[in-house]
Amino acid sequence: MRRTKIVATLGPATDTPETIEAIVRAGVDVVRLNFSHGEPEDHLKRAEMIRDAAKRAGRTVGILGDLQGPKLRIARFVDSKIYLKRGDSFILDAALDSKAGTQERVGLGYKELIYDVTSGDELWLDDGRMVLLVKEVKGKEIYTEVLTDGPLSNNKGLNRRGGGLSAAALTDKDKEDIKTAAMIGVDFVAVSFPRSAADMMEARELLRAARSNAALVAKIERAEAVEQPDLDDIIIASDAIMVARGDLGVEIGDAKLPLTQKNLISRARALNRAVITATQMMETMIENPIPTRAEVFDVANAVFDGTDAVMLSGETATGKHPAKVVATMANICEEAEQSMQVRISGHRMDDQFGRVDEAIAMATMYIANHMNVRAIAALTESGSTALWMSRISSGIPIYAITTNERAARRVSLYRGVYPVLTREPVTDPKIANRQSVDFLVEQGVVDNGDAVIVTKGDLMGAQGGTNQLKILRVGEHENG
Ligand code: PGA
Ligand code: MN
Repeated sequence: MRRTKIVATLGPATDTPETIEAIVRAGVDVVRLNFSHGEPEDHLKRAEMIRDAAKRAGRTVGILGDLQGPKLRIARFVDSKIYLKRGDSFILDAALDSKAGTQERVGLGYKELIYDVTSGDELWLDDGRMVLLVKEVKGKEIYTEVLTDGPLSNNKGLNRRGGGLSAAALTDKDKEDIKTAAMIGVDFVAVSFPRSAADMMEARELLRAARSNAALVAKIERAEAVEQPDLDDIIIASDAIMVARGDLGVEIGDAKLPLTQKNLISRARALNRAVITATQMMETMIENPIPTRAEVFDVANAVFDGTDAVMLSGETATGKHPAKVVATMANICEEAEQSMQVRISGHRMDDQFGRVDEAIAMATMYIANHMNVRAIAALTESGSTALWMSRISSGIPIYAITTNERAARRVSLYRGVYPVLTREPVTDPKIANRQSVDFLVEQGVVDNGDAVIVTKGDLMGAQGGTNQLKILRVGEHENG
């Protein structure tokens, strides 16, 4: 049973009922709607398709709406594309018409760039394929020297090496898309390029104003966002983070990514937040039927680093083998997890717990890891108990049994947590115990004599009420 979760981006390549069902059956836990492309109707249609497919496949699948954010871009060229040579002069011209780019100059989608850069700055275009050195800023023109050879085409993305661009995280388009995401009823909303906790708080307010309860994901993709104390503040203001390796690599340099990934995953877990590792994980499978060895190691290393989920972007959205790439990734995760049956954890050993449900979750994991427990059944309405539990390294499956569909979809992102939707809350604790154990037996995860732990509250169906943990032996679970 795979513990690491898979997030897959939907796109033209997954837009048939057959393909979308195939990726769900292959193991997708959360789908990503990329608001950088397409219209609100496209996202709504995809959300409906995934709900149908999940129902047919009998699986719980969360939906993540990913906001575009202030991705900076150059404007367009008269002939779509130019070719620059090392040593050429090139001008980024905030006053130029957006379609009038030539061999000499091009317009800017983000006109404020002229206030953000000075001579000596390096501007990276097209994910670093084209590098420009700023020589001088004069009026609305940025004079640069070309440092690489290569083509440059319409609307390519632009980053400043080292970060520090002042664009706000939430654009007007993002604010509209938050309303769309709320209308669609997504389970997660990802904010692109947040600089600070304040950006996340603003997004949360807008989301609440739009009557959405979605969990918030901070995409860590600016140089300033990985620096402390901002990093911890951003994590605390969010429900999950994404290691957004594409833009982050351009801002901090690719060579710094592996260590940064380890640090981001470890900080997220330490602060009780979930974490998604993203971008180019299986990139060559956009075309090819098998991944490179390097990609196999990349996915496995993210699992070793402790990520909750690994993400697919173009591999599923526009790739040739959407279902195959999901199945291949799932297989790599399962194999990598074999090395990880860690049953000792130093997580939060020195902490005081502020809440009863949190204390129960932590005690459960301590017992589970130190006694031969086969499975945990957490009766939870908010999903928090499952989150706290899953922050502790363990090979023990955590079943989040809930009557709340939103909670079921939210916990589908957490490593080692399996959502189980039940119809009605059971009020009699004896019946709740018996049903939980019977369910584990049905799943084939436990046998007679195995120890399991059930956690629950006095008032079943209420949120935040977990106050009991019960160790039961399968076959002897009559007692409440
Ligand atoms: P994007 O974010 O694909 O929306 O740019 C992920 C990343 O930058 O890695
Ligand atoms: Mn990005």
